[in-house]
Amino acid sequence: AKTSQQAYHIYQPLEVQSQGLHVRLAQDLVNAIEAGDLELYHQPQISLTQPEDRASEVLLRWHHPTEGLIPTIDVITIAEQTGLIRSLTRWVLSAAFSQTKTLRQLGYCGIRVSINISANDLSHRGFSSDVIGLLDSTGLPADIFTLEVTESMHLSDQAVFQQNFTELRDHGFLFAIDDFGTGYSSLSYANEHPFSELKIDRSFVTDMLNDPKRQTIVSATVSMAKKLKLIVTAEGIEDDATAETLKALGCDKLQGFGFARPMPFSDYQAWLNEQQGPLSEHAAKSDAET
Ligand code: C2E
Ligand code: MG
Ligand code: MG
Ligand code: MG
Repeated sequence: AKTSQQAYHIYQPLEVQSQGLHVRLAQDLVNAIEAGDLELYHQPQISLTQPEDRASEVLLRWHHPTEGLIPTIDVITIAEQTGLIRSLTRWVLSAAFSQTKTLRQLGYCGIRVSINISANDLSHRGFSSDVIGLLDSTGLPADIFTLEVTESMHLSDQAVFQQNFTELRDHGFLFAIDDFGTGYSSLSYANEHPFSELKIDRSFVTDMLNDPKRQTIVSATVSMAKKLKLIVTAEGIEDDATAETLKALGCDKLQGFGFARPMPFSDYQAWLNEQQGPLSEHAAKSDAET
């Protein structure tokens, strides 16, 4: 039960917080990783061109004991500023791998999972071998995972970034360029690294039907991505009309509140059952053997 103090507490976005709260949150985050206050939500992605795929993006949630749910973008910012991002990403990756293994053992076929990593992670020497080590201990193939990256302007070491990227790619991981069209997620970024997927930022998608300019940007981005042989995903779809338009434009995957909101893992399993019917006995057996 909530105390009245908690009930009236309203979390303030990071930019209006005091430095004190910021520092305290950073300390609390260290404990949260240990204490089990972190959770991965899954947001389904509707695959139009590979309908047998059952894809989702995992999104971190931090249930702070007194502040409540902290906006994830703030959690990531704090983690990046304090160097906690390494252990946070490690937690996210192992949780995502373990949930994926569970889904496959339950018999779901075609499971694909997209995981957000920070561009900072890729500039840490040894990141790729850590990730490969974590994955290999699960026995899962790498090519069912897509690592979503947004470009950062604070890249300390390009050479290390490049090396991590290449090693993970050679191991089979796929890469998506996230939030395409905003900030530093640009054409040159798409050109410099072997991405296999491009995600159009939701700021272009959500309201596109009321804004011919945005619609033009989305349509040009889709055709460019197709010519570059990239899988193209639109995020932030909130209504049917937008979904229909994006289908007609030739998007491969659709993601947004209009299809499903991010949800706890147990709800995602229920969603899979409802949407995609019975499980495959065969897949359950072959995976349980490994
Ligand atoms: P993102 O990777 O672009 O993730 C999509 C965000 O858009 C999610 O916010 C999702 O809840 C939201 N979203 C999806 N569909 C809709 C829609 O139709 N309408 C609206 N208004 N929003 C929609 P969320 O979960 O708050 O995450 C924010 C950002 O935080 C993510 O943006 C990603 O950059 C970062 N993030 C989330 N989880 C992780 C993580 O585990 N690791 C890292 N490094 N970053 C993460
Ligand atoms: Mg993402
Ligand atoms: Mg992002
Ligand atoms: Mg995004």
